[in-house]
Amino acid sequence: MRQRIAVVGSGPGGLTLARVLHRHGHPVTVLERDPAPDARPPGGTLDLHEGLGQLALDKAGLLAQFRALSRPEGQAMRILDTDGTVLRDWRPRPDERSNPEIDRGQLRDLLLGPLDVRWGREVTEVVPGTRDGVRVHFTDGRQETYDLVVGADGAWSRTRPAVSPVTPHYTGITAVETSLDEVDTRHPDLARMIGDGSVAVYGVNRKLVAQRNSGGHVKVYAQFRASLDWHADLDLDLADAGAVRSSLLALFDGWAAPVLDLLRHGTAFAHRPLHVLPVSHTWDHVPGVTLLGDAAHLMPPLGAGANLAMLEGAELAESLATGTGDLDDTVRAFEERMWERAGRWAKITTAGLERLVSPDPAEALAVFDRVQPS
Ligand SMILES: Cc1cc2nc3c(=O)[nH]c(=O)nc-3n(C[C@H](O)[C@H](O)[C@H](O)COP(=O)(O)OP(=O)(O)OC[C@H]3O[C@@H](n4cnc5c(N)ncnc54)[C@H](O)[C@@H]3O)c2cc1C
Repeated sequence: MRQRIAVVGSGPGGLTLARVLHRHGHPVTVLERDPAPDARPPGGTLDLHEGLGQLALDKAGLLAQFRALSRPEGQAMRILDTDGTVLRDWRPRPDERSNPEIDRGQLRDLLLGPLDVRWGREVTEVVPGTRDGVRVHFTDGRQETYDLVVGADGAWSRTRPAVSPVTPHYTGITAVETSLDEVDTRHPDLARMIGDGSVAVYGVNRKLVAQRNSGGHVKVYAQFRASLDWHADLDLDLADAGAVRSSLLALFDGWAAPVLDLLRHGTAFAHRPLHVLPVSHTWDHVPGVTLLGDAAHLMPPLGAGANLAMLEGAELAESLATGTGDLDDTVRAFEERMWERAGRWAKITTAGLERLVSPDPAEALAVFDRVQPS
């Protein structure tokens, strides 16, 4: 009999797992709490690396379609000083395909394809070791059992407590996100400053990044060191866009006017404090339950999380679909491999975040020069 496999979460990791299983003709149930694919804005653009996210798409048979959709020019990166001086201006060669960008919504639709996701199925608890297998509980009180439950349910995973008591902790760095629409026609000066990819400005303990998505949409991220409740200290209502904008403009006071325009023209602001799991988070193997992606190894958002989640999903799916061995041995081997690779990336991204939002902005330039030598 085929194993009954459920994946909790239809993010990049969960969908890649399901899509590769589907490619191998193996049934899988995808349980997603959102009521529909477009229930909330999908978020900013993702760069998918050749040996990680792109490899996963290859395993799903979707690499050619990704290449047609993605934006290699989006790899361009410009760094400005706080006075607006251009410090670095890196542009990819026309054939550069190492990290092209794709909108999250496009990636989700590409992965969804023929998959039959069960929308509006929010998991509350996963209980291993019952007589029939692993029991999954839902918000509506219903229960289902599976042979394997894969928690791909992100930072605040409800699957994780079945294998590990660890929860994410605050990094001391918070982020406020806003966006600009139709930038080429409505804000042509900003469009030129941002270029085809991203522009970043590093100051003392703070940074501003603007990143082009498709269709003239730009996401702007302000990151700064602050207590988790910095807004309470300022008596700031995070739902009041005007007040958030003013407090950000005060925080970045003295920076060049065009850079501050990125904040001035933002309409809605979302507060996203950066949380992480401990570097090298592992657990004692629990038969019938595992984790992947942010649920297993939430790390700073420096271009690795979705890539790792996707490759883990693809690798686990391949082993489950093609392996002849015991289910638990397959999952154990997957976990060992995931922990080793994710641990390496967690170290890199943790050190990277410390240097990119640091008391010495020259540290950020040094990071850039190491990653992207001219
Ligand atoms: C600003 C920013 C920029 C980033 N840029 C990049 C980048 O360029 N490249 C990169 O690789 N990574 C990037 N990341 C990181 C990346 O977004 C995450 O690592 C990635 O989304 C993790 O994928 P996942 O599938 O593990 O989880 P998620 O994407 O978090 O998906 C989890 C899914 O589970 C669902 N879910 C949650 N709880 C439940 C429940 N109880 N029941 C059912 N469903 C549930 C959620 O609704 C969601 O659909 C960035 C992150 C941020 C914040």
